[in-house]
Amino acid sequence: MHFNIITLFPELIENYCNFSIIKRAKDSGIITIKTINPRDFSSLKHKKVDDTPYGGGAGMVLMCEPFFAAFESITKSDNSKTLLLTPQGKTFSHQMSLEFAKFDEITIICGHYEGFDERIRQNINCEEVSIGDFVLTGGELPALCIIDSVSRNIEGTLGKIESAHFDSFCDDLLEYPQYTKPYEFRGMKVPDVLLSGNHSQIALWRRKEQIRRTKERRADLFQKFLSRELSNQDKILINELSKEEN
Ligand code: SAM
Repeated sequence: MHFNIITLFPELIENYCNFSIIKRAKDSGIITIKTINPRDFSSLKHKKVDDTPYGGGAGMVLMCEPFFAAFESITKSDNSKTLLLTPQGKTFSHQMSLEFAKFDEITIICGHYEGFDERIRQNINCEEVSIGDFVLTGGELPALCIIDSVSRNIEGTLGKIESAHFDSFCDDLLEYPQYTKPYEFRGMKVPDVLLSGNHSQIALWRRKEQIRRTKERRADLFQKFLSRELSNQDKILINELSKEEN
């Protein structure tokens, strides 16, 4: 996967991507990341990239010329997708992350200040993406969220891709509770089943805890889970949980 990140602050992207799992994915060639700074494409004095809004109002708006030029400088592959970051976009999700991971190349356009001149949004063929109903100062954190999450869904980034298969949101369920050593901490013990060595019992316990958690914490996700074609085993676990509640 190749990521092109159009950003006025390339160091923010580069620094994050030089640590931990994302760095390893880069070092092993699973992902490549290129930053493109619209400032380098400005023909104005002092490499200006923003100006005051027509009609008046606070803040500065990102100008068309440097953003179009930065975008057009990229030679994109056939299997590529462009995302424009805005709090007004579709909310990023696990499902979107899985879909984005199927592309060979993703270009992400980060805004700043008051955001983009509307003509950038209208004329660049892109999907508008938000990371949630709140406003950040710039698109770099959202871009990093997307790079990080999509990279996890590419074979080879995580030691074992299976570790992503039980993460929250797979199968529309949250993850089960996890424990590590010591067995007892301040009187709190690890559930015995996890020490039993009985792998099918452990798998069953974990599945039930996934369902319990999702039902307790995320009614919306639980409804999505229920609308799936459920296995008999899941149906039994759901019944057991209902009985426990009564
Ligand atoms: N004035 C814009 C509005 O109200 O819709 C917000 C602009 S915001 C201060 C500056 C930039 O940060 C945006 O252009 C976008 O790229 C990025 N940004 C801020 N919040 C975001 C979010 N929740 N999701 C994705 N990008 C966001």
